[in-house]
Amino acid sequence: MVDYIGVHRVQALVRERGTAQFIAGLSREIEADYRRWKSFEKSPRHATHSPLGVIELMPASDGRQYTFKYVNGHPKNTAKGLLTVMAFGVLADVETGYPLVVSEMTLTTALRTAATSVVAARALARRDSRVMALIGNGAQSEFQAIAFHDQLGVREVRLYDIDPRATAKLAANLAGESLPGLRVVHCASVAEAVAGADIVTTITADKRNAIILTPEMIRPGMHLNAVGGDCPGKTELHPDILRREDVRVVVEYAAQSRIEGEVQQMPADFPVTELTDVLTGRCPVRTSERDVTIFDSVGFALEDFSALRYVYRLHGERRGERLDIDLIPDLENPKDLFALIGSRRSRRERPAELAEVARA
Ligand code: NAD
Repeated sequence: MVDYIGVHRVQALVRERGTAQFIAGLSREIEADYRRWKSFEKSPRHATHSPLGVIELMPASDGRQYTFKYVNGHPKNTAKGLLTVMAFGVLADVETGYPLVVSEMTLTTALRTAATSVVAARALARRDSRVMALIGNGAQSEFQAIAFHDQLGVREVRLYDIDPRATAKLAANLAGESLPGLRVVHCASVAEAVAGADIVTTITADKRNAIILTPEMIRPGMHLNAVGGDCPGKTELHPDILRREDVRVVVEYAAQSRIEGEVQQMPADFPVTELTDVLTGRCPVRTSERDVTIFDSVGFALEDFSALRYVYRLHGERRGERLDIDLIPDLENPKDLFALIGSRRSRRERPAELAEVARA
């Protein structure tokens, strides 16, 4: 049977540990998987575009296990009371091809995106970074604030969203969490939010080449965690930011990021460094306190592989709480699939009284 992990189970797993602790554990998992980059079969995700959004399939495998995620990106959904980003996924055994678990991945994606952002920022941002601008205060934003407070030592978040209700929601949610020493500042513009920030997280949703950050907002030494631009024609940074002499761009997987990331605005040979090479020390990126580092995040299938395995493991630690679903037929004779529907049904499928008659 195939196990099932729903939204309530992931909620419970996160609440048992606390959000920051959950993300910390997941960030270790993601970092470990990025360090064994060569073990993975990789491909850019498969994207099906429509005027209002995109539906994507994201596969990854390390030869022993295989995962895929189904995820959308529909920025106008929130006006209809729906999420911009929702997802579910499957973890399967490569040896048999059988799925082990079907899991919710909407909450899990927000957690893994924040976990990936902190993995990159730990390697790229200046160590004395304490102030973060958070532009885009929607569904993903709390996760980013909590992760950067916990793992990077951020002590001030400067919030801006074109929708003041989104900022009010984020501030209220952060006020309800235990985030020692965190100062939350409401800003009236992107420029005000970015002024004085060491780290700038852009996590807005709009299916166009938006210009959230302009070159004059960028100060030497900043780290930009650019998360919202993640499909063709959907970016957040003015291209002149990428052209600056002091800018170093890190991507998850170059083959996918050149299609979907901020670097889609640049020529095909624009220099980028893959996150794995930064984490393993093969290509240290920040060489001075004045370098501007950019994590051009689009979300890569490896992060979902790490997240699915992490959630499945934590779920498995709650013994006896499997929730099997009959997704795959369980047959006495695997060559007799027809037994499920034929009149000569297999003994397992027959009602008990019929089995008794047959024995008589
Ligand atoms: P959301 O719709 O819940 O929130 C987006 C917020 O951005 C909204 O509050 C909106 O008002 C705000 N916004 C839009 N344009 C803006 C602008 N010009 N200035 C300031 N704010 C603006 O969406 P979400 O689930 O929080 O996702 C945010 C973005 O992150 C999406 O684009 C999504 O595709 C992307 N995302 C990326 C990854 C990744 O791994 N890189 C993962 C998840 C989501």
